[in-house]
Amino acid sequence: MRRKLVVGNWKMNGNRRANAELLAGIEEAGPFVADVAVCAPFPYLSEVALSLQGDKHIGWGGQDCSSHEAGAYTGEVSAAMLAEFGCKYVIVGHSERRAYHAESDQLVADKAKIALAHKLIPIVCVGETLDEREANRTDKVVKRQMSAVIHTLGHCISQIVVAYEPVWAIGTGKTATPEQAQAVHGLLRTQLHAATPKSGEMQILYGGSVRPDNAAVLFSQPDIDGGLIGGASLKAADFTAICRAAA
Ligand code: PEP
Repeated sequence: MRRKLVVGNWKMNGNRRANAELLAGIEEAGPFVADVAVCAPFPYLSEVALSLQGDKHIGWGGQDCSSHEAGAYTGEVSAAMLAEFGCKYVIVGHSERRAYHAESDQLVADKAKIALAHKLIPIVCVGETLDEREANRTDKVVKRQMSAVIHTLGHCISQIVVAYEPVWAIGTGKTATPEQAQAVHGLLRTQLHAATPKSGEMQILYGGSVRPDNAAVLFSQPDIDGGLIGGASLKAADFTAICRAAA
């Protein structure tokens, strides 16, 4: 039986006071049946770690990492640094990184690889744009994105978390229907099955305008193992309602 996982992606939001209030609200509402984590902007990770270190139920992580080990890469943050600050997870290949930073499938795969080398769990995001969906290319696109990671990680693929995030659903209020999401999750599970005997144990999250009122039905689909939550992760009441929906 797979455990459900709900991860908040704060993106470039928050400040020290708002973060403290948000974390206090999440901790107060816990513990949850599901695994729960928050992915905070880099400068706040040490405070998030300090605040959550006594709470075994809530993990934390970064929103990206470098594909390089260390060195002259101004502005980048390494997987080793995230690990040093107690991160359990790191998001890689978010569609905003792919779109605004031209991250390729191979770069995303390399980031996942270095994350695993530092004992972080990469949350690898895949998903199609609206144009791609309308051109009936959803399956092809997500399989291509996943395939780069499968080839780069080999048998270690079973150690990642996958997040299916249709780009047209991110921050738009347009959620994939449970059937649309399940169809892609099922496809990804089948693709992973060909790569690892442990595919049945892997968590595949859905992300894209998940809210308290649509979380339970999405999470009840057979291959949806929780969510990657953007906007709704910034309000403790909404985020914790979503965490509770992942029972
Ligand atoms: C995200 O950015 O990963 C996301 C799913 O955002 P939102 O929940 O706001 O659509």
